[in-house]
Amino acid sequence: IVDARDVCKSFGPLTVLREVSLQVRRGEVVLVLGPSGSGKSTFLRTLNMLEPIDSGTVSVCGEPLGTRADGRRAAEKQLAVQRRRTGMVFQQFHLFPNMTALDNVAAGPVHVRGQAKAESRDEARELLALVGLADKTDHYPGQLSGGQQQRVAIARALAMRPEIMLFDEPTSALDPEMVNEVLEVLVKLREEGMTMVIVSHEMGFARAAADRVVFMDEGVIVEEAAPSEFFANPRSERARAFLAKIL
Ligand code: ATP
Ligand code: MG
Repeated sequence: IVDARDVCKSFGPLTVLREVSLQVRRGEVVLVLGPSGSGKSTFLRTLNMLEPIDSGTVSVCGEPLGTRADGRRAAEKQLAVQRRRTGMVFQQFHLFPNMTALDNVAAGPVHVRGQAKAESRDEARELLALVGLADKTDHYPGQLSGGQQQRVAIARALAMRPEIMLFDEPTSALDPEMVNEVLEVLVKLREEGMTMVIVSHEMGFARAAADRVVFMDEGVIVEEAAPSEFFANPRSERARAFLAKIL
């Protein structure tokens, strides 16, 4: 469902991604980890075209991203359709502060997909129930805890009916006691068959819920393995050094 090949990306003189290739199958949960500055966030953003790439290709659902620029309008329209296939959740929740949880979730389908308001609100209610917030629909972000806000952000991304969900350190801005409530939502999504690429250093979660671990360092995928294999027996020296620091 995702096929990234030889993706290269530099910011000025700084090369951040060096021929990164990754394939993700439908329904697969891939966990990306690696030291700070290794290019994890940048790579995730290339999968959503938030970050233009210098060379290589990224295909999502069999379609190369951002190609076929036959006229500006067509390209932008196509880009928008492609973007909708991926939902993204960040470390910071980025909710609309002046909108209730329900409106935060319902806004995308109404304004972007042109879906009827009543239908969007019904769906938003269902999604908030899915993330365990059925009783918080009318709360504003300021009235919610960090973990609750992040779950609203997940529901908001799901409201766009993405084929893939991308998570960039979804729990690292949270107090420890709120981490699990967010991870539980990810486990639930996995059970529903959602394809996910998750940057996270939650090792317990990685062991329990990831199909594959991808270890990045200095803009390269150094190692890819099943979690049990990776944690028990990392092949590269760099992965061993990294694990020694965080475990
Ligand atoms: P962290 O674990 O700290 O989130 P990361 O693995 O996600 O790190 P990236 O955010 O992808 O790393 O950054 C990789 C490198 O690219 C870093 O050296 C960073 O400073 C640089 N970088 C990222 N975004 C930009 C940008 N917009 N302009 C210039 N440099 C950038
Ligand atoms: Mg990052």
